[in-house]
Amino acid sequence: MRDAAGATTPDREVLARVFGFHDYRPGQGEIVAAMLAGEDVLAIMPTGGGKSLCYQLPALVGGRLTVVISPLIALMQDQVAALRENGVTAAALSSATAPDERDWILDVVREGRLRLLYIAPERLASERFCDWLAGLGIARLAVDEAHCISQWGHDFRPDYLRLGELAARLGVPVGAFTATADEDTRAEIVRRLFAGRRPRSFIRGFDRPNLSLAFQPKASPRRQVLDFVAARPGQSGIVYCATRDRAEGMAAALREAGVDALTYHAGLDADERTARQTRFTRGEGVVMAATVAFGMGVDKPDVRFVVQADLPKSIEAYYQEIGRAGRDGLPADTLTLYGADDIRLARARIDEGDAPPERKRADHARLSALLALAEAPACRRQTLLAYFGEAAGPCGNCDLCREPPERIDGTEIAQMALSAMLRTGEGFGAGHVVAVLRGEADDRIRRLGHDQIRTFGVGAAHGRGDWQAWLRQMLALGLCTIDGERGGAWRVTEAGWEVLRGTQPVELKRETPARKAAARKGALPAPRMAPEDEALLRALKARRAELAREANVPAYVVFSDRSLIEMAARRPATPSQMGEVHGVGAAKLERYGDTFLAVIREAG
Ligand code: ADP
Ligand code: ZN
Repeated sequence: MRDAAGATTPDREVLARVFGFHDYRPGQGEIVAAMLAGEDVLAIMPTGGGKSLCYQLPALVGGRLTVVISPLIALMQDQVAALRENGVTAAALSSATAPDERDWILDVVREGRLRLLYIAPERLASERFCDWLAGLGIARLAVDEAHCISQWGHDFRPDYLRLGELAARLGVPVGAFTATADEDTRAEIVRRLFAGRRPRSFIRGFDRPNLSLAFQPKASPRRQVLDFVAARPGQSGIVYCATRDRAEGMAAALREAGVDALTYHAGLDADERTARQTRFTRGEGVVMAATVAFGMGVDKPDVRFVVQADLPKSIEAYYQEIGRAGRDGLPADTLTLYGADDIRLARARIDEGDAPPERKRADHARLSALLALAEAPACRRQTLLAYFGEAAGPCGNCDLCREPPERIDGTEIAQMALSAMLRTGEGFGAGHVVAVLRGEADDRIRRLGHDQIRTFGVGAAHGRGDWQAWLRQMLALGLCTIDGERGGAWRVTEAGWEVLRGTQPVELKRETPARKAAARKGALPAPRMAPEDEALLRALKARRAELAREANVPAYVVFSDRSLIEMAARRPATPSQMGEVHGVGAAKLERYGDTFLAVIREAG
């Protein structure tokens, strides 16, 4: 794009020449402009929105150095490697920096050639280091994963507290970047980092249209996960599990099915965790079965799927976890399994925790929002975005848009179920309630006399699966709750009483046969390329893997999947055509252009 005078603006020129990108992602242009104008900036963008570019690009427009604070050494190193591949003079300074690298950094800083210096927050503990920084005359400070400064954020780091002092002392504009959007975190970032100044805030939409969304009731979770992964051979993905044991078990089952799977959880020692994370990041087609400990610093752009084998604890956690898929903007699939047991456990966990009452109430509300999403009547993305305060139309990329369920008047059904709960004294779980509804008398039911109550057998016309699904929907609609203190007993809420009184109609969903079949497959159909392109893409990927190994960098640092897919589809024949491909900037064209042109030529 060009400015009014028809000339390319300096930032656009850098975008194309250095990064090989034809356009900004939504929001990036405004943030870059504000940074270049010397404003303080607080930018909240969804994972994969392209935050790094917002501070990397301004660093290449002005003449002075940009300092970036980043929480993880591995993350800094990968970013520096990627920048260098693009021909940018960048460096990372941490406790892991080798002495000769350190000397080199001092040299290029002195010569004024260094554009970006990444530093780990723990460096700020050293007075001498801060003095040195202050003497450099830097252009601006960029703080990545800025929620680390907040006790409300998920990844609070005490080292980050020193940042506020440093920022005040340097007296340069500060850009703070995070994907965490809640009010408390945002307020604390501003208070701690901007010392009374008001940063210009940019809050980017939360939509990630390339992520497909799907939920499935938990039937046989291991089977469901294996089917989902088997439908995506060779893809990298994450399978989140509630506990370490479950993660171990899942990885073992995946390995048995021939998948290159690893486990990751907080019970492993630090070296082992780093080694596994590196294997995941650098490898192709590695699947990580992990607990939520696998989180920060997972910035591999080509994670093609995320499965949540157990229900996450809130809608925020849901979005953060699935958000680790598809950062590169290419299609990526997500699947969340949930069952009534998950819901009961999650409620109990909140109740048993030692958080103050108002926090517990908030946690229950966040969990309820997730359940409402799980049982959403129509487009899931609409429900999700509505929670984050955004209006949207039906997305076409969720299970409910693709296979809309049949909507039925569920008033009578709900009344039957609620009265079964009441007449059994609101003391029983879903299995018992369904058995009573269907008129299935076993010893326990007879002993309790539940085969004598009026609702016994009134719902015999419907299958067990239907009843289970309706109970979950009623739970999500808030017509009943699960009482953690009474061993998971289902109870009728105020809203449920309205339904019983007949003052409130209820709409429920019925699984259509098509939806059931799709749910069994667990997979949305994968978009396919032409077979010749597919063969070429494989060859390009093989070449990329070799080059990445030689340079000891992750494959995506050489070229992103998107670049290779474009090469396979467009088949550039000359260096200038190659330079048109997404992600091929001047440095990469020079370094890899001929190699990849040769692969394309050989493919004919
Ligand atoms: P975030 O930190 O916001 O999660 P990243 O900065 O890691 O996201 O960017 C995610 C991916 O998007 C990276 O692979 C990056 O190269 C790519 N990207 C960023 N900006 C653009 C753009 N303008 N056009 C195309 N791809 C982009
Ligand atoms: Zn949808």
